[in-house]
Amino acid sequence: MAEPILTVDHLVKSYDGKTNVLDNVSFAVKPGEVIVVVGPSGCGKSTLLRCLNGLEPVQAGRVKLGSETVAYGGRNLAALRQRIGMVFQSYELFPHLTVLENILLAPTKVQKRPRAEVQQEAEALLDRVGLLAKKNSYPRELSGGQKQRVAIVRALCMHPEILLFDEVTAALDPEMVREVLDVMLDLAREGKTMVIVTHEMQFARAIASRVLFLDDGRIVEEAPPADFFDHPQTERAQRFLRTFTFDAVAKQ
Ligand code: ADP
Repeated sequence: MAEPILTVDHLVKSYDGKTNVLDNVSFAVKPGEVIVVVGPSGCGKSTLLRCLNGLEPVQAGRVKLGSETVAYGGRNLAALRQRIGMVFQSYELFPHLTVLENILLAPTKVQKRPRAEVQQEAEALLDRVGLLAKKNSYPRELSGGQKQRVAIVRALCMHPEILLFDEVTAALDPEMVREVLDVMLDLAREGKTMVIVTHEMQFARAIASRVLFLDDGRIVEEAPPADFFDHPQTERAQRFLRTFTFDAVAKQ
């Protein structure tokens, strides 16, 4: 059995020192796995992703990338974070840089890779997501869906061992959601290791190797997608999934 790329071990996180936003969360991600984290708003999904990337101090427990501990304020954090790609709901592109400059910045400045090599790779990836013609555009000239695809290419160009996606379609108009999800499905088919937080349940079902259902900071269910969506074990998961069925009916 392959060793996990990422291990989360009894993680406890509190913002105020009283309530635990993450309460003893443990799971592991093996190479090529796609873990989808779902759960009601406020249950701790974003906090979890931020902890995986060392963006938050934690009260107890540990996150490990391979054999190394990812810790907020840790001495090797910058180096470790280069190995973890993160894509945010809000794109986080630099407005004053073109698409290509946004993508090339970290691989050339931080990883010190040759510009020509990274540019070739960036252009191939932009072509793959249908955006090569936009390489010299500025973020303000792009739609939300296009910006998010650029953000994904930027993360990929760092050659991360694992990619984290935090509700990357939540700010998009419905017609743009698909183009971003299709890129992620393509990455999954290619065997990329990913942890995805999403409210898109059909997509979750299609892409997940495993679903983690988080409620009140705890992993309440952990199951393959068919099991979770067809036979949720807990009343809380059943109730959560019913809200989506109702949404789908209400939209018709
Ligand atoms: P989700 O992503 O599932 O909606 P979050 O991780 O954003 O949940 O939030 C979990 C809980 O932590 C919520 O109660 C939220 O209000 C709280 N929280 C999130 N970020 C902060 C913060 N920076 N400071 C204080 N509380 C926070």
